[in-house]
Amino acid sequence: MGLECKACGAPLPSQATSCPACGAEVPPLAPKKTKLLPLAAFMLIVILVIQAYMNKPDSESEAVEPAPAAETAAP
Ligand SMILES: [Zn+2]
Repeated sequence: MGLECKACGAPLPSQATSCPACGAEVPPLAPKKTKLLPLAAFMLIVILVIQAYMNKPDSESEAVEPAPAAETAAP
């Protein structure tokens, strides 16, 4: 999968924990995609909370909203 030793540049097996060529330690792969899932869930919760917070004053503003006079002003 194009994995190379950062110390000597030798190709590494996918599950290698150390370089077979120079013996340098290979850090375990940190999949970034798995970290996006809890982040997306967190963002979804934040959006839902914001929407729930924004809906509260919205119900009151509807009563203050003036009626459209364009239709009643027809000749
Ligand atoms: Zn190496």
